[in-house]
Amino acid sequence: MIHSKGPLLTVDLGERETRTEDIDDVLESFIGGRGVGTKLGHDRIPFDADPLGPDNRLVFTTGPMQMSTMSFTGRMNATAVSPLTDGLLSSNAGGFMSRNFADTGYSAVEIVGESDETLAIHVTDEGVEFEPVADLAGATVPETCEYIEETHGLSSEHVACIGPAGENEVRFASIMTTEERAFGRGGLGAVLGAKGVKAITFEGDAAPEIEIPATQMEIHREAATEDHIMKRQGTVSVMDLANEIDGLPSYYFSEQSFEGAEGINGDAVEQKKYKKGTCSACAFACKLPTRDEAAGVETEGPEFETAMAFGSNAGIDDIVDVMKSNELCDRYGLDTISTGNTVSAYLASEDEFGDEELILDLVEKIANREGVGDTLAEGIDRIHDDLGVGNWTVKGMDFAAHEGRVLHGQGLSYAVANRGGDHMYATFYSVEYPLVPKEEGMAPRGLEGKPERLVKRENLMALNDAGVVCKFSRDFMSPERYESLFGADFEDLLAVGDRIVELERHFNNKRGIDREADRLPYDLPGFEDALDEYYAVRGWNDDGTVPDGHVSPGAASADD
Ligand code: SF4
Repeated sequence: MIHSKGPLLTVDLGERETRTEDIDDVLESFIGGRGVGTKLGHDRIPFDADPLGPDNRLVFTTGPMQMSTMSFTGRMNATAVSPLTDGLLSSNAGGFMSRNFADTGYSAVEIVGESDETLAIHVTDEGVEFEPVADLAGATVPETCEYIEETHGLSSEHVACIGPAGENEVRFASIMTTEERAFGRGGLGAVLGAKGVKAITFEGDAAPEIEIPATQMEIHREAATEDHIMKRQGTVSVMDLANEIDGLPSYYFSEQSFEGAEGINGDAVEQKKYKKGTCSACAFACKLPTRDEAAGVETEGPEFETAMAFGSNAGIDDIVDVMKSNELCDRYGLDTISTGNTVSAYLASEDEFGDEELILDLVEKIANREGVGDTLAEGIDRIHDDLGVGNWTVKGMDFAAHEGRVLHGQGLSYAVANRGGDHMYATFYSVEYPLVPKEEGMAPRGLEGKPERLVKRENLMALNDAGVVCKFSRDFMSPERYESLFGADFEDLLAVGDRIVELERHFNNKRGIDREADRLPYDLPGFEDALDEYYAVRGWNDDGTVPDGHVSPGAASADD
C-alpha cells in the first residue's frame, strides 16, 4: 500500500525542544493525513485532556498524494481534541501549504505543551526555530503573513497561522493557511492559540520520493478538460437545487427555503469572480476569488456553506454582504460556517435578521471576545439557552448547509459523525440530491438501505482524508482508480477508513460521547432503527460505543 514517508517531528513548546521518531508502522497502517493524525492523537493525547490545555496535541500531516502532480491533492490535515465538540477531530485545508510541508521531509509535525510567550515556529529540513513574536499579539491573518514575508522571505503558502480569534480561544477559530484557506471546522485555531503559537512556517528541500502510479495523469487530464459547473461556481452552484427541494436552511433553521436565494446563489458569486482560484497542482480549480470594487471587498468564496450561514440563515440576500462577512472571518481567523450560524442564532434571538451592519459588528466582537461576542464565542451548543433559541448542533458542531430534514441519509450522517453536524465527514448529500444518476443515487427521503451505504461512504471519505485526496474528486474516482493510486485492494483501503472512524469513536467514547450524542434536533422517520443498523454494520455496541477489545482488521490497537 502506498503511504506517507518520513519521521514524526514533535515540537515541545514548554521545553523549547524537538524530537524525531520513526513512525513507519503507523504510516503503513494509516497511510497519512487524517489516518496518521487520528492514530497519533488517539494513542498520545490523554483521554481526559483539556482541549485548551497543554496535554492536547495538535498534529499536522500530509499524505502520499502530496508527492504527485495530480489534481485534487493540494490539501492537508490537522488533528487535535476540538474545543467545540470535545472529541478527537481532524480538519482539512486546501491552498498551497501541503507541498511546502512535505518539503520539510516530515510525515507529521506534532505541537505539544504550551508556551508562556507568543511564538512563531519555523520548521525546516535543517531544524526548528522558536521565535518570540510578542509584537504579533492581536495581529490579523494578513498582518501575520506580511510579517513573515518581510522577516523570513516566506509567502503565505508556507504559513499556518491564527488571527485574534485563535488567540482569544474562540471555540470555532480557524487555523489559516495561504491567507484565505482554513482548517476551519472544530476550533483548532483556539488549540494553537491556547498553546501560545501565532504561526508555523514550513520550508525545505527534503520531500521524500514516493512513486505514484500513472493513473494520476489520467485523473489530472480529466480534471483539466472536464466541463464542470464547480469550475465556474464552486460549491455554491448547488444552492438553487437545494432551495428548490426545500433544503436551504434559512432564518436560523426556522425555514428551509429562502426567497432571496437569487441574490446569493452560484450566478451571483460567478458575477463577482475575477479570476480562477485553485489549490496546488489542481487543474479542477473550483475556488472563487471574488471582489466588488464599489464595496471595497475582495475575498475568496463564499462557498455554499458560507452563503447559507451568512446569507439565507441570517436573512441576507446580497452576495456582496456575504463576501464582506467571509472576508472578515478570514482576516480574524474564524470558521465561516460556525461564525455565520452563531451570528444567525443571535439575530434570531433579537429578531434582527438581515441587518448586515450588526452582523459585521458581531463578527468583530466574537473574534475579540468583546461584549456579547464573548458569549457567542462559546458556540451555539453552550449558549443557545441564554439566547432562547434552538440548539442546531450535533456534538457541539453546528450544521452545514445540506439539509438533513430533506436529505435523510445526510441527517443520519450528521447524527453519527464523530465530528458532529458536519457535511464533509461522509458527503452523503452527494448521493441524495436529485441530480445524482439513478443507479448511483438514493431517494433523498427515507433511511432504508442508508446505514450500510453511510458506513461505506464514511470509510471512503476517511481514506480520501488519509491520502490526502480532495473530496471534490468524486466524479473522477472509481474503486479501480483508488486501487491503482494506492497500490492496494479497494476493500483493504476501505478498511483503513474503517480503522480511522473507529479510533475516533473509541477516543470519543472515553470522553463520554456515545449514542446519547448521536442525536438530531428534529425527528426523522425510522431514525432509531437506522441508528441500530449503523452500529451493527460497524460492529459497535447498541449504545454507540466500540466494544472492549474490539480491533478492526489491521488496526494497531484500539485499547487503552
Ligand atoms: S477541487 Fe477545489 S478544493 Fe479540491 S483541491 Fe482542487 S481547487 Fe482545491
